[in-house]
Amino acid sequence: MSLPYAPRFAFYDGKSQSGSSTSSFQTIDPATAKPVADIHTTTHSAIDAAIASGQKAFPAWSATPPIERARILQRAAALLRARNDELARIETSDTGKPFTETSTVDVVTGADVLEYFANLVGGGGLNGETTQLRPDAWVYTTKNALGVCAGIGAWNYPIQIALWKSAPCLAAGNCMVYKPSEFTPLHASVLAEVYAQAGVPPGVFNVIQGGGDVGAYLTKHPNIAKVSFTGQVTTGQKVAGSAAGGMKYVTMELGGKSACIVLPDADIEQAVDGAMMANFFSTGQVCTNGTRVFIPEAMKPAFEKRLLEKIQYIRPGDVSDPNTNFGPLVSKPHYDKVIQYIKHGITTDKAKLLHGGPETPSWLASHPNKAYQNGYWVQPTVFTNCTDTMKIVQEEIFGPVMAILPYKTVDEVVQRANNTNLGLAAGVFTNDLNSAHKVIAQLEAGITWVNTWGESPAEMSVGGWKQSGVGVENGRKGLEAWVRNKSTLVEMGGAVPTVFAKL
Ligand code: NAD
Repeated sequence: MSLPYAPRFAFYDGKSQSGSSTSSFQTIDPATAKPVADIHTTTHSAIDAAIASGQKAFPAWSATPPIERARILQRAAALLRARNDELARIETSDTGKPFTETSTVDVVTGADVLEYFANLVGGGGLNGETTQLRPDAWVYTTKNALGVCAGIGAWNYPIQIALWKSAPCLAAGNCMVYKPSEFTPLHASVLAEVYAQAGVPPGVFNVIQGGGDVGAYLTKHPNIAKVSFTGQVTTGQKVAGSAAGGMKYVTMELGGKSACIVLPDADIEQAVDGAMMANFFSTGQVCTNGTRVFIPEAMKPAFEKRLLEKIQYIRPGDVSDPNTNFGPLVSKPHYDKVIQYIKHGITTDKAKLLHGGPETPSWLASHPNKAYQNGYWVQPTVFTNCTDTMKIVQEEIFGPVMAILPYKTVDEVVQRANNTNLGLAAGVFTNDLNSAHKVIAQLEAGITWVNTWGESPAEMSVGGWKQSGVGVENGRKGLEAWVRNKSTLVEMGGAVPTVFAKL
């Protein structure tokens, strides 16, 4: 059977490598459960070759003046924008996210980050510091590229994650071997082609394909200088553990269970809009989702009434339709996991089901495309009267499942919001500027919002606290994750300070 997309192989030495594999698997369209492409798992010897390709390219690329690297990467950003809709369609086939999302968010936010880091290094972002110690002595620092780095991606924002990793990596003068998630691998070879077309030399950006075993082989490879990983906490623990033995630099972007706090004076309309974006955008498959929605007891009835009205604006359906704003979950295993959580919420946690549930969405029966009935569609679901000890409140579900938690006082809500070993994101809705900043200052999370949710522009450094990660991506701080420091002390006094000058 011919599939919609060409088979995917590893990409290194500047080209697709059809001999890099002895086995393959298929990637699936989540809307219909139909296969879309054959993906060829990269063998260990081909992973070695991809890393060697990076090592060969590293001396010249790292020595290329930053402004020249910037020019090449700016060209790649322009090429991505020119191919926006084609790339968005690929992402829709792979992730199930509606085209209205992938064409306006996924490729755009990736290209923005590429342009941002190109401009940053082109504008002196890799300069070090000088410190005058005394009239005849000073210290200067330089930022040095690390070498060949590994990028390992999750399935929820495939091309965006690939760009958030490769843009600062390449801009800083490193080479990358990138492994996409086995659930959403289509974008990776197209990105490699775009980089090549823009003038990125062979070996600077390489792709390998496969699942966790391929990722594990890459992570522990002695010739990898750094691992930048996005995925689950449990996988991140394994990856960081394996990187630690080789003293590799790591960036870990992991899961969350973030608190969305509605303060007593908040505007209900804004709070409902924010909570819906924090739970249902991308069918709830966003790491920073505010899935614990804390509402003052007195405000709860009004909040829930407006929420139930606005939930009607969630429009599942044909993922290419400009009216659709809600897609399926990414895969069968993930669908099973989310449904299990919803069932657990009802039967074991005994939370009150306000909307949705584990049943197949009713609209599917009358949908003209019968294949949609095989897709991984779920209902947007809301539980209320939740308590902190419920499993659906404690664990990351990574689906469209909101938990409403009533509270009495602001001190109480801050303490409860922080009562988790995760610390990715948090946010408050309020009209009181003082309360906003006081509460934000007390929240244990690396990414916070006031009166909005989810926007993550190139300029904003983002990363989790506690078990949610190590380090940040994006913003000026994001570049520091891809360089190592060298400090040099220069003495011009004519004599070496020594304690061994005389008997
Ligand atoms: P996952 O941990 O299952 O897989 C992530 C990647 O790791 C995949 O490419 C996978 O093949 C690879 N992998 C698996 N085992 C490995 C191993 N032993 N060594 C090396 N690589 C290995 O995560 P997922 O289900 O793909 O993604 C969803 C998770 O990602 C959620 O928890 C979400 O919160 C998180 N996420 C975090 C951020 C962030 O910026 N903090 C962004 C997006 C997603």
